[in-house]
Amino acid sequence: MRFVIIGGGPAGYQAATYAARLGAQVTVIERDVYGGAANLWDCIPSKTMIATGGAMSEGRRLSGMGLVQSSPVVDTEALTSRINGIANDLNGDIVKLLQSQGVRMIDGTGRFTGPNSIEATGPNGTESIEFDKALVSTGSRPRIPDWCEPDGDRILTTRDCYPPKVFPDSITVVGSGVTGVEFVHMFSSFGAEVTLVVSRQHVLPGKDPEVAGVLEDDFLRRGVKLLKGARAESIERTDDGDGTIVKCDDGRVVRSTHAVLAIGSVPNTDELGLEAAGVELDDWGYIPINHHCVTNQTHIYAAGDVSGKLPLASVASMQGRKVAEHVMGLHTIEHRHLDYDKAASAIFTEPEIADVGLAEAEAFASGRKIRVTKVPFSTTAKALINNDPRGFVKIISDPATGEVLGGSIVGRHAAELISVIALAVTANLRVSDIVESLLVHPALSEALAEAAE
Ligand SMILES: Cc1cc2nc3c(=O)[nH]c(=O)nc-3n(C[C@H](O)[C@H](O)[C@H](O)COP(=O)(O)OP(=O)(O)OC[C@H]3O[C@@H](n4cnc5c(N)ncnc54)[C@H](O)[C@@H]3O)c2cc1C
Repeated sequence: MRFVIIGGGPAGYQAATYAARLGAQVTVIERDVYGGAANLWDCIPSKTMIATGGAMSEGRRLSGMGLVQSSPVVDTEALTSRINGIANDLNGDIVKLLQSQGVRMIDGTGRFTGPNSIEATGPNGTESIEFDKALVSTGSRPRIPDWCEPDGDRILTTRDCYPPKVFPDSITVVGSGVTGVEFVHMFSSFGAEVTLVVSRQHVLPGKDPEVAGVLEDDFLRRGVKLLKGARAESIERTDDGDGTIVKCDDGRVVRSTHAVLAIGSVPNTDELGLEAAGVELDDWGYIPINHHCVTNQTHIYAAGDVSGKLPLASVASMQGRKVAEHVMGLHTIEHRHLDYDKAASAIFTEPEIADVGLAEAEAFASGRKIRVTKVPFSTTAKALINNDPRGFVKIISDPATGEVLGGSIVGRHAAELISVIALAVTANLRVSDIVESLLVHPALSEALAEAAE
């Protein structure tokens, strides 16, 4: 089986290693770095910056723990090399993994030239490759509206922030979805004055309003300005070049030293020659797929951000593995379909926010009967020991069977703790399975067991 993959991000490299292990002859074409935008510009650098910013803002918590607060200062050079070092280590591991599985790696840009052929153009020239099955996993890039021209200096996309050339004294974040709120948290942790342009009436549209409320309270406590019900319609540099002016559709104007766009992404599906292979796109440029990640061409798959499903590295990786199983015919034996409704996700703010499965509002809208139990962390010993009693655990279950349907967690380590509920949701466990687990004491997970009671 000749399996060719364009794009070596989480979707592409997972599909490659797994398919190679199953016996496919695999080639990956990557124009930038193996590991993808996820390691280079998105998940890893943003979370590294957030971790460093978080360490700076730890002072607030430490001063309540019997310690005298110190004031750390950012060393931009050291921070840059830390961010690059982590990405390089991760990318190096991926290259070693691909090599160890016998995957052929071509450095270059791939495009389809026919239904069963791809051309790779790179430093070593152009090569034509025939395939039996192919995967498009070329990811996405930040969306740039026509009313703004990022310059990488003061008007930034998310990719210019690791770290910015000059650390912002003040910054306007445009976009209040997951990426926008993470950037608010990141820059305010570093001490910048932050204004968030929120097009709706609360941040995180689509998330549980109670959860969004906790985050807004934290932002307000830190002095973040929330410009609600406003849409940015232009971003320009000030005349002296040292700042930015964001104008909103309701006439409000925000001046700050920097502005960053966090208004979503567009799929990398242009310039791929998809028409030569007969692969169709939807109106937004995404590649429609079925539950096996198969496109309208039965021998061509799409996975990761290009597929228009949940834009998460974790989902992209799982799609990649499912594609490998399908390519090698494993789906006919033992195969669990990917259920996007059961994907856990997290927002790396302070407090962290994580959720999985059915949301309370969703169940309410559909009229489904549910049982909702909520326990604040303030009732657990560990939260008090940590001097951080903020947040809660909420578990949603079926009142008749006790089956765990979903949950959300707000608080310290929420992104780790949600794994317990995610496992319960995926494995169709009941609340009693959580209650009867012998958990650690003192630990934040005790709130999970209490919420399951
Ligand atoms: C700021 C930010 C933070 C994020 N944080 C998280 C997070 O914490 N957790 C999480 O799960 N998700 C996070 N995401 C989302 C996550 O980064 C994406 O969902 C994930 O990278 C998608 O993986 P992918 O394999 O589809 O694409 P990518 O990681 O984008 O990889 C695609 C690869 O294809 C290559 N490529 C493109 N075109 C070609 C071509 N023609 N030829 C050869 N190669 C090509 C690119 O160079 C790239 O390496 C974040 C996103 C952003 C913007």
